[in-house]
Amino acid sequence: TETTLILVKPDGVKRGLSGEILRRVEAKGYVPVAVELRTATPELLAEHYAEHVGKPFYEPLVEFMLSGPTLAIVAEGQGVIPGFRSLAGATNPTEAAPGTIRGDLARDWGLKVMQNLVHGSDSEESAAREIAIWFPAFQR
Ligand code: ATP
Repeated sequence: TETTLILVKPDGVKRGLSGEILRRVEAKGYVPVAVELRTATPELLAEHYAEHVGKPFYEPLVEFMLSGPTLAIVAEGQGVIPGFRSLAGATNPTEAAPGTIRGDLARDWGLKVMQNLVHGSDSEESAAREIAIWFPAFQR
């Protein structure tokens, strides 16, 4: 089976949606195999968001991701990588379909960075890379 990295970003934790998001992951049949509440660091974020360093939203993204704790989850299940992306919905909460985490629970707050509640790895390579960043000791 596949594993993916899911983050409930600081907006989700602050709004008390960690349980609701974990509930949706489990209700779909995915299994959380590692869960940790932790506050990111600039170094960790530079690794996690390496592809975005230098983009106009990078600084606001880092500021947002440092604004409080993140719930990091390793979830396992057949097809969990695309499956969780599908549960999460479109990156832009305004475009995310009803029924998805972002579509149901997030909206555009008119801020410089999209506060879209969750992150999910987008490929097997990203999942392996991101799990190693957030859970250096994780072994399957
Ligand atoms: P994630 O990687 O968090 O699952 P994603 O893959 O859907 O999201 P990316 O393009 O990797 O989106 O962007 C990472 C994050 O940066 C987004 O989730 C969002 O919080 C923020 N972001 C991306 N693009 C923009 C933008 N144009 N303006 C503001 N914020 C953005």
